[in-house]
Amino acid sequence: MKKIFLVATTVALIATNAMSQIKNFNYSVDRFADIEVLRYQVPGFEDLSLNQKLLVYYLSEAALQGRDILFDQNCKYNLLVRQTLEAIYTHYEGDKAGKDYQGFMKYLKQVWFGNGIHHHYSMDKFVPEFSQQWFDAQVRRLPAGQLPGNCDSDQLLQVLDRVIFDPAYLAKRVNQADGQDLILTSANNLYEGVTQQEVEDYYNGLKDTTDLTPVMWGLNTKVVKENGRVVEKPYKIGGLYSPAIEKIVYYLLKASEYAENDAQRSYINKLMEFYMTGSLKTFDDYSIAWASETSSDVDFINGFIESYGDPLGMTGSWEGMVNFRNQDASKRSKLISGNAQWFEDHSPVNPEFKKQNVKGVSAKVINAAILAGDSYPSTPIGINLPNSNWIRAQHGSKSVSLDNITDAYNEVANGTGFNEEFAYSNKEVQLMKDYLSLADKLHTDLHECLGHASGQLLPGVDPDALKAYGSTLEEARADLFALYYLPDNKLIELGIFTSPDTYKAEYYKYIMNGLLTQLTRIEPGKDIEESHMRNRKLISEWCYQKGKKDKVIEYVTKKGKTYVRVNDYVKLRELFGELLAEVQRIKSEGDYEAGRDLVEKYGVKVEPKIHKEILRRYANLNIAPYKGFVNPVYTPVCDGEGNVIDVKISYDENYIDQMLRYSRDYSPLTH
Ligand code: ZN
Repeated sequence: MKKIFLVATTVALIATNAMSQIKNFNYSVDRFADIEVLRYQVPGFEDLSLNQKLLVYYLSEAALQGRDILFDQNCKYNLLVRQTLEAIYTHYEGDKAGKDYQGFMKYLKQVWFGNGIHHHYSMDKFVPEFSQQWFDAQVRRLPAGQLPGNCDSDQLLQVLDRVIFDPAYLAKRVNQADGQDLILTSANNLYEGVTQQEVEDYYNGLKDTTDLTPVMWGLNTKVVKENGRVVEKPYKIGGLYSPAIEKIVYYLLKASEYAENDAQRSYINKLMEFYMTGSLKTFDDYSIAWASETSSDVDFINGFIESYGDPLGMTGSWEGMVNFRNQDASKRSKLISGNAQWFEDHSPVNPEFKKQNVKGVSAKVINAAILAGDSYPSTPIGINLPNSNWIRAQHGSKSVSLDNITDAYNEVANGTGFNEEFAYSNKEVQLMKDYLSLADKLHTDLHECLGHASGQLLPGVDPDALKAYGSTLEEARADLFALYYLPDNKLIELGIFTSPDTYKAEYYKYIMNGLLTQLTRIEPGKDIEESHMRNRKLISEWCYQKGKKDKVIEYVTKKGKTYVRVNDYVKLRELFGELLAEVQRIKSEGDYEAGRDLVEKYGVKVEPKIHKEILRRYANLNIAPYKGFVNPVYTPVCDGEGNVIDVKISYDENYIDQMLRYSRDYSPLTH
């Protein structure tokens, strides 16, 4: 629930290049469908000690070994589809200029990017632009022994033709439509043969509402029916995904030899224990140890973490990431988190919903070294973990901003003409040019370090009470906390920025995005479904409606084009504060009805006429709405006697080669 994604399309920033960055770096790697693939630099890797480099290396290997798990979680046919497509690609000898082959390549790249047959963001199934006839012929032409899944081509096609070509079958990976059975209508592989009601009854039977330290039920399991009973199948060694988890544990063990301190070694061991036992209690122990250890430079995420892939928000998608501290940029977020209690005390939230003691809000700025699973290729720019509410309250959380990823986004966003097209006037364009780079980073810091960490549930309130609306409202809470504090003198007092206009750049961008430009990511005729987008729409629309009589925010038409203008930034801040208090109340009391009303009324619906106009204007700019990354390649260097003396980093691998290499070298579930 605690990820923040860059609104990549709305940014035109002045990049701040660290000294150690490579000049004239080629960021752009590939472009297809609605995607641009980039590469990122890892400044500072060369300056790490050999021990730290080896720690990064082995943690990276552990991270990459989980790729197949995510494919299979996303849909049970994904690995079969991927293997078949890759076999066709590898053995293809026909015409490469033809429409079918071109459509096939686009589809293959989409499947790699989505970690399966559904779009990573919209969750809709990809539409193939090649004929079934062409596809069937390619499968039949494959050499014997090259077909995945031990089946002959007829058996394979019987399954895959429907999976790939029937638009109504497995149409949506995660369905959030109000009033439908969200389990039966979602194509993910986290449940099988059970209804939403059965799953909810099952978990209600397990949950003890008097337990003040509940485990995260369902985090690492698939729920199925066996002999008429609902049961959980855990992901663990000896359970589901065992071959992949064994590899992960193998590399975690190697990594633990190079841990920076005993505390780090001990939480790596706890994580291995979790993978061996599947015990959620052990995972909590691990999370506490992980959140409490803040002195090491190298750190990582490895496990079943975020639950966006589950319409009920229970099962975690497998995710991996390795990173290390960016020393300079960490100073800024340290200042913010060091004053966490001040921010908590001064927020407009009702005192009974505030934390008396905001604990251990550690924040640092990091450079990502490897992205994997749910963080690859599409990746967040900020992360706040662990997700367990009581652990966050009692033991604190770690909050990070991914500086090198943000810098890569900024580098490519320059000069696209986006703000010039959509901002109301030159004044707003200039405002964003001058201040948005800093204001955006600050917004991320405030969102992650303070926003998610703030507030408390009233005793006995079920942390899952908001159900399908939980993710949207949690993101709204964190965003509102950040928005409310951006103009605060406290930030100037702390020396974080000097111009009192800095916050206006973020305010304008936020409203412009929430009301207009994020519509570029929605297909015509569709509603808003993704929780971060619902959150941004909810906040912007609510403020527009509530501030209507004072014209705080206005729609203006110039030469047939629609713009938004923010007339009163001070009033807008008050509105953010008012909504923050209400969203925190909803969360603290577990007021499902009010939460649903807020999201459904303000966060979901799209005005078709404006949507159409925005899409038309956006299409003229020819910008890819989604971006993601290939990883650098790490290679150990040995001396004559076989001792590792260094780990080299290189940036020259392209998208196709990386995906094929990962499928070859990191595919424990398919080989
Ligand atoms: Zn968040």
